[in-house]
Amino acid sequence: MLINGEWTEARSGLSFEVLNPATGESIGSVADGGAEDALLAITAAHDAFKTWSKTTAYERSAVLYRAWEIMTSRADELAHLMTVEQGKPLKASKAEVKYASDFLLWFAEEAKRVVGEWLPSQRPDQRFLSVKVPVGVVAAITPWNYPISMLTRKIGPALAAGCTVVLKPAEATPLCAKATFDVLTDAGLPDGVINMVTTSNPAPVGDIFTSDPRVAKLTFTGSTAVGRVLAAKAASNLQRVSVELGGHAPFIVFPDADPVHAAKGAAALKFLNAGQACISPNRLYVPSSLADLFQETLCSRVERLQTGNGLHDGVGVGPLINEVAVAKVETQVEDARNKGAGIPVGGMRLVNGEHSNGHFYAPTVLTDVKPEMSIYREETFGPVAPVITYEDPEQVIEMANDTNYGLAAYVYTKEIGVAMRAFEGLRFGIIGINDVNPTSASVPFGGMGDSGIGREGGHEGISEYLETKTGGFAI
Ligand code: NAD
Repeated sequence: MLINGEWTEARSGLSFEVLNPATGESIGSVADGGAEDALLAITAAHDAFKTWSKTTAYERSAVLYRAWEIMTSRADELAHLMTVEQGKPLKASKAEVKYASDFLLWFAEEAKRVVGEWLPSQRPDQRFLSVKVPVGVVAAITPWNYPISMLTRKIGPALAAGCTVVLKPAEATPLCAKATFDVLTDAGLPDGVINMVTTSNPAPVGDIFTSDPRVAKLTFTGSTAVGRVLAAKAASNLQRVSVELGGHAPFIVFPDADPVHAAKGAAALKFLNAGQACISPNRLYVPSSLADLFQETLCSRVERLQTGNGLHDGVGVGPLINEVAVAKVETQVEDARNKGAGIPVGGMRLVNGEHSNGHFYAPTVLTDVKPEMSIYREETFGPVAPVITYEDPEQVIEMANDTNYGLAAYVYTKEIGVAMRAFEGLRFGIIGINDVNPTSASVPFGGMGDSGIGREGGHEGISEYLETKTGGFAI
């Protein structure tokens, strides 16, 4: 844990093991912190805020820019660590490190774009000034699936705004968090500006984060169930809240689209990070006129995917994070099978040979998926592509919107009018039009409905860490 510039053990002296999900081997251990450690971390961040919030935007920008340079220079070692700790194939880990560093660069730039306003008054002897100030101490809780970029997406704008931070990373990926903190401290952050409490038991730390009056803001990325509980606790303490939660993305192929192109896009997107992404497509809507060609292409792509240890050449799909994740996928697939879904590819755990000690599930295609199947409504977080055929393109937007989630959606069409109507009609925060990667540090990321509150990245990302102060000057 990092508290006030010191790497320390937990006050309790306890630690916990970190396991490689591909091999089951221990790759290290970290301090197993608790409430007492969280309080010390908040004290450090609260003290450091007094001076960090007074630094100039140029100073904060320079530190973030140095952090970007250092992260870029360590990209290979960070990516290797990510694959060993989280499981995604090395190429995907490298892409994530690049994405993570993009937030440092973007917010190094955004730090200098925080401006106020000179506003009109009805009185000739009065002047109004409105400025932005940092909210204060930020408590951040992050997930394991993107174990470096989810940190920089929060810490980058928080630091740029002049806030200090206490982070609790996911228990599965504390080593990536430590490596990210090494980058930030090596960039020259003063002691106490960023603090990290690792723990195998998140609830007591979450309780402290959401009840300590010195914490001004909670930023959380993770499941909707946990985000809802934490947001309610934070709200009762009048903390500001951003929660980036789960998703259930529709992927709509319109009748005018090229089904082969769309199926290639679906295969590339769905199996990224073994499907463990909040913006992963969960419902592939294909018109019955294109279903055969779409499914044929999808299946042939999925059959060719090699599943294994992400460090090995040719592996396109890594392990799931743990046994609970595999069991959840298995339950959803069995439910779909029992209710009549076809399973032309996959549909089972991988347990032999190089898969025997890891948490592997075969890349799977489900056909004839229906609303009564649990996979139609529940987030899967696994390598399963559920195909739903539809007849009426007039109704497909309504079908796609029939979810409490509202994070990402995807549309395939060649017609600009169809694309525009879909973009306007879909109730989701991020929409890819013939595009499987509609994300970047430079654009807002976040969802509607049960997918959360707030946006990260883009111009909006930093405003989550700022509040407005108005001055009326009688002259
Ligand atoms: P999770 O909610 O179980 O855990 C997320 C974080 O919350 C972890 O750090 C965990 O330790 C912590 N946590 C769990 N219970 C807690 C408690 N009672 N008090 C305080 N902290 C607690 O989710 P996960 O399984 O790690 O992550 C997967 C989920 O995250 C998926 O639902 C996914 O869609 C979502 N996600 C969303 C985004 C987004 O930007 N919208 C990005 C990535 C992941």
